[in-house]
Amino acid sequence: MKLERSIAAFARARRVIAGGVNSPVRALGAVGLSPVFMKSGSGAILYDLDGHEYIDYVMSWGALLLGHANPAVTRAVANALTRGTSFGTPTEAESELAELVLSMVPSIARLRFVSSGTEATAAAVRLARGFTQRPKIVKFAGCYHGHGDSFLIAAGSGALTHGVPDSPGVTEGTARDTIVLPFNDVSALEGAFEMHAGSIAAAIVEPYPGNMGLVLPNPGYLQRIRALCTQTGALLIFDEVMSGFRVARGGAQEREGVLPDLTTLGKVIGGGLPVGAFGGRADVMAHLSPEGPVYQAGTLSGNPLAMAAGHAALSVIAADPTLYDRLEETTRHLTEGLSEILRARGIPHCCTRAGSMFSVFFTPGPVTDLESARESDRQLFAKYFAAMLDRGVYLAPSPFETNFVSASHGPHELERTLAAAEASLAALAAA
Ligand SMILES: *Cc1c(COP(=O)(O)O)cnc(C)c1O
Repeated sequence: MKLERSIAAFARARRVIAGGVNSPVRALGAVGLSPVFMKSGSGAILYDLDGHEYIDYVMSWGALLLGHANPAVTRAVANALTRGTSFGTPTEAESELAELVLSMVPSIARLRFVSSGTEATAAAVRLARGFTQRPKIVKFAGCYHGHGDSFLIAAGSGALTHGVPDSPGVTEGTARDTIVLPFNDVSALEGAFEMHAGSIAAAIVEPYPGNMGLVLPNPGYLQRIRALCTQTGALLIFDEVMSGFRVARGGAQEREGVLPDLTTLGKVIGGGLPVGAFGGRADVMAHLSPEGPVYQAGTLSGNPLAMAAGHAALSVIAADPTLYDRLEETTRHLTEGLSEILRARGIPHCCTRAGSMFSVFFTPGPVTDLESARESDRQLFAKYFAAMLDRGVYLAPSPFETNFVSASHGPHELERTLAAAEASLAALAAA
């Protein structure tokens, strides 16, 4: 497959943009390829600069639940655009989207809009610290909460030790206030809460971690985190930037029946424009400036174009009572099909899925945490990714990223994807 224009575009980008990309995974480094530059998208399909088309399973990293260029969303943005791009004053569009979010996510009594998931999690943690007057946060290895300093800390040597910075530029002081635990490990969780009870402001967790590939919580695990937070006066923050409006109308918290004190949202909430949000208990949110002492602000927060896109996307979602069942069914069909193809070729693998999120790990599994996710065969993944790309399927470009099905993926796309997988694996076996 010729990618001449993408290669030229990347060379040009590298001369002016650090690393040639504005977000690292886009560089396709994990699969050793040069990034494919896209020109447009429609429904489930992406079109690149060289004239190829791809069935897209990245969906702007999960933001596009309805698919590319959904007519209701593009119409809403075009309408909003005629009135101006930004006012720096409150607009009714913010309350309209907020009302819709509150109606879909019952644990949120008040919220605030920001422009990214990173801002939402950083603000939620500052608010939790301000509210509880405690310094420490608990996070889980392999969970991603944006690129705020407190979150760029991986598990060091053992569950109960303090974290070490994961990126140069994060100070040891910051690392000391972040306790990193392995996901799904109840005794590590209990140990940490016992040791640090009076100083933990919050536990922050992706209820369905999707940033080490998709990993699901063991039965009772989220309930245990909830109980320990309640007992010790720490706040529970569900980072549903990925899972919110993605796995169910009310996110993973609806499916699991566990209610957090605060929730962070992003991706789907903006319908493809930059929107994030954090919200939850009214008494906690009242601590936020201007009502309370915890500062948080944003020049373009609640931007009218972004609010219009989010409102249009969530309105389509809210009005469709069978949407999530259909997404779940499509995703089940796809992962079962992929699994069957891999099994027929004797390739050790395990699949995870929830709603319209899924991962295929090249390891027998089960994958329950970062350590088991890391068992997957990265070389095989890189070859599989490249073979699928050649056959017009754009998968998540790392074994540690989740794939997303949209409402625009129908039987035709599924059939083509499975045929591409069959052909890809046949080609790899022959090579
Ligand atoms: C994507 C993501 C973020 C960061 O959101 P950005 O909009 O990229 O800043 C935070 N948390 C989770 C769970 C995410 O998936």
